[in-house]
Amino acid sequence: MHEFSLMENVVRIVRQAATENRLTSVTDINLVVGATSAVNVDALRFAFEILQKEEAILEGVSLAIEETPARAHCPKCQEDHTLWRMDLLCPSCGHLPLQLRSGEEFYVKSIEGEREDG
Ligand SMILES: [Zn+2]
Repeated sequence: MHEFSLMENVVRIVRQAATENRLTSVTDINLVVGATSAVNVDALRFAFEILQKEEAILEGVSLAIEETPARAHCPKCQEDHTLWRMDLLCPSCGHLPLQLRSGEEFYVKSIEGEREDG
């Protein structure tokens, strides 16, 4: 499962950020998933639940996943469109395919936690 290795990567990033920022615990992890990134949000949450049982750093953490739409441009009618799924047929003129400009992103937007004093 591709989402499981993505989530393992997120855990690595979280652990590193916690060390660098001297966090005693992590409370929130916010991820951004693009609409055409081929990342399944349900599978991501499932992977998180599994890892939460194994990784002490994830204890009590709430995971927020923000889905962002993709932007696509039609080379025929020159219109820009917002896509929530991988559908490259232009809704204005029927041209195929639209050119994707964004939507493949997957990244950790922010990590929040408790910081040790000083
Ligand atoms: Zn078009």
